[in-house]
Amino acid sequence: MSDRPTSAPSADLLVLAGTVLTQAAAGAAPMADTAIAVAGDRIIDIGPIETLRAASPDARTIGGTDHIALPGLINAHQHLTGDRLIRSMIPDDLEPGSSIFEWAVPAHAAHTGDDDELSATLSLIEAACNGITFTVEAGTVAHPDRVLAGFDTVGVGGTLGSWGWDVAGEPWAGDNVDEVLDRQREVQRLTAGHSRVDGWVTLVGHDLMSDELVAAASDLARANDTGITFHLSPSDSDTSSYLARTGKPPAVHLDDLGVLGPHVLLGHGVHLDDAELDRLLATDTAIAYCPWAYLRLGQGVSRAGRHIEFIGRGGRVALGCDAENAGDAIDILGVAALTAGLAKDMTADPTVFGAHAALHHATLGAAEALGMSDEIGSLEIGKRADIVLVDTTGPEWVPRSPDPVLQLVWASDGRCVQHVVSSGRIVVEHGEPTMIDRSTLVDAAKERHDRLVRDANLG
Ligand SMILES: [Zn+2]
Repeated sequence: MSDRPTSAPSADLLVLAGTVLTQAAAGAAPMADTAIAVAGDRIIDIGPIETLRAASPDARTIGGTDHIALPGLINAHQHLTGDRLIRSMIPDDLEPGSSIFEWAVPAHAAHTGDDDELSATLSLIEAACNGITFTVEAGTVAHPDRVLAGFDTVGVGGTLGSWGWDVAGEPWAGDNVDEVLDRQREVQRLTAGHSRVDGWVTLVGHDLMSDELVAAASDLARANDTGITFHLSPSDSDTSSYLARTGKPPAVHLDDLGVLGPHVLLGHGVHLDDAELDRLLATDTAIAYCPWAYLRLGQGVSRAGRHIEFIGRGGRVALGCDAENAGDAIDILGVAALTAGLAKDMTADPTVFGAHAALHHATLGAAEALGMSDEIGSLEIGKRADIVLVDTTGPEWVPRSPDPVLQLVWASDGRCVQHVVSSGRIVVEHGEPTMIDRSTLVDAAKERHDRLVRDANLG
């Protein structure tokens, strides 16, 4: 990797680490005392520190040999608006559905554009500080232009769509299929040419979309060569609803409509029967797995979840954090530990799915689930320079394990992240966002929280 052609451009930035986890392939060995050279938004070289320093003597350097470098983490299901401003306020002892229809929906309905931008900015700052450089917005944005501004303020990447459902009797009801699709097309226009944020087609999903809408939305994603994401079966209520309406379980019905395919990222997929699992595998449909949300909401993942079986049969899975009242923390390293722990405990088999597998599904495996593994998910020459530097001087890293992935996943979490590079720019330095002063948002968050609680009649 360090045999650089003499004509190679010199780097703007050298990221230095005592250990580099490239995540370029399952089981890839850590690299010791290595530099990652960045020019513009790309990784241009990876090799011995002194060699790369000599090649780019004027480059800025960050990190050092007491750091671990890994690829920017991927959060494949995150609501960037709505309940951020009422974070951890929804009680955790409500009947199923109440948290959504009595809390999240009224909060969304009372949201202004200013609320959306502030919510997204706060969420993405937290994400970046925990090493997440790419976030899939989960499909509930009313003001995508303001959320895009949040992405730009923080400097991270992701995918973005707009709110879409067409069932009667709920907020935003009355939208017909064309109106929903026009909003998605508008986001595609908004994000066209953006270097870090891709326009995706997003629907709320569940059983809140007509057959006509979901089929047309999937076709729109295919036509635009982009992804589509929507919620399906975090609890067993979608199964009951689809069986009553269509006579088939949800994933079978959606496959029969021609919706499923490699461009589809289902949020959740917790309650799936054998036929549904087969259909998802046959169509190469991916799943975003958000176990903290299922635990917070009591949705039965520890009984019914089949994600590890799905992965074992070749299914594509990424990890997600979900919402600020469904798992709450935006920390994929915490999700990775839970994923590994659930896998072992649900099978009562400690030999299955450990920290290395979990980290794969937060990095390259996640990128594969998003159809973006040629761009993000690993530290490789030519890929987007999304790089996380972990500080190993904290107490959780003393003494150092010979296996850094074991220690990263089981002993640590996002709080060990010290510096973050997104598309070649340092967006977090010494644990603080560089593009915005986080403290300036505190008063605005308090004020908008109070107004939202009042206007939505919450609390
Ligand atoms: Zn969600």
